[in-house]
Amino acid sequence: MSSELRARVVEEFRRRFGGEPSFLARAPGRVNLIGDHTDYNDGFVLPMAIDREVWFAVRARDDRRVAVHSIDFDEDASFALDQGGPRRDGWVEYLRGVSWALEQGGCPTRGWEGVAAGDVPLGAGLSSSAALELAAARTFAAISGIVWQPVAMARLAQRAENEWVGVNCGIMDQLISAAGEAAHALLIDCRSLETRLVVVPDSAAVVVLDTGTRRGLVDSAYNERRAQCERAARHFHVAALRDLESETFQRRAAELDPVTRKRARHVITENARTLEAATLLEHGDVAAVGTLMNESHVSLRDDFEVSRPELDAMVDAAQRHGACFGARMTGAGFGGCAVALVQHESAAAFTRAVADEYTRNVGLRPAVYVCSASQGASIESAS
Ligand code: ADP
Ligand code: MG
Repeated sequence: MSSELRARVVEEFRRRFGGEPSFLARAPGRVNLIGDHTDYNDGFVLPMAIDREVWFAVRARDDRRVAVHSIDFDEDASFALDQGGPRRDGWVEYLRGVSWALEQGGCPTRGWEGVAAGDVPLGAGLSSSAALELAAARTFAAISGIVWQPVAMARLAQRAENEWVGVNCGIMDQLISAAGEAAHALLIDCRSLETRLVVVPDSAAVVVLDTGTRRGLVDSAYNERRAQCERAARHFHVAALRDLESETFQRRAAELDPVTRKRARHVITENARTLEAATLLEHGDVAAVGTLMNESHVSLRDDFEVSRPELDAMVDAAQRHGACFGARMTGAGFGGCAVALVQHESAAAFTRAVADEYTRNVGLRPAVYVCSASQGASIESAS
């Protein structure tokens, strides 16, 4: 897949700009194995960079302009590095945002021209936007002689998405796209941004199952959940729910109203599950990790109430398959994807059976991706 993308951007670069690109930059999308709605509670997440990526073929320019052709949008775009200018919609704003965030962060950038292409599905919850941002950040860094520091670059890319593009996302997507490693998931402490690489055993395949439904009204529900979590943290006089001991919560849960109590219970138990899942994965106990994923789904469905019938149907179909260790909805919810941990040798049979059953029960044809854990943003030679 990535070798195809490499060939496509190089070929298109030659056609449009003449000559060879001086280098290629790539960055992956991601799937979160466990730990949802924990990030804004200063908690833990366990994402994995996937073998779906955005690629750039690039050459430096002498002026202070960036000129890019997007193969996927069949569109040219260019901008001057020094102009603030109005912010519009569209893919180039992610690049402008990254250059703006770099400049704001005290890293002067230089101009370049290139071609972009990717195979992270857009808007499916696999974070094509972070892949685009980190591929752009790697490009700017290489062109401008900026030392690549994954955590710092992830923060800058997040700032670009928050403040330039105007999407209120946490740090997970950018950090895993910057710092992922092949064959590993990454445990992230969303407070300290400390990370720990966790091997994904060969015996397990990670399968992403896209329900084909998309979140609606997600912003209001998201803000409401955040407010409920903050209310619970205030009640217990902690900075964030991450700081609330499970025993304290259990002893005093009755002090909260029933809805706030459920929201807090999700966050507290999900943080514990995520930490435990990382340790179990390190020990190769994929069956136990699967059980935690199943529990995570129940918690997201019943306590946090961010699932929907199609996600429940997909998770149910996955969990009932004999090759499945565990499955859950993944991401913010209200639509999008489920993720399943599956016996490696049965992954193909699993995806066929689950897709068929989902179609029978729901009437939609799902997109299915068997993913392997891939490396974070990198520079590749053009030859
Ligand atoms: P996602 O869940 O995939 O991150 P977003 O809505 O956050 O969805 O980001 C999708 C946007 O990112 C696209 O509309 C486009 O502007 C940009 N994008 C992602 N991948 C590409 C690509 N390969 N080429 C150009 N733009 C892309
Ligand atoms: Mg996104």
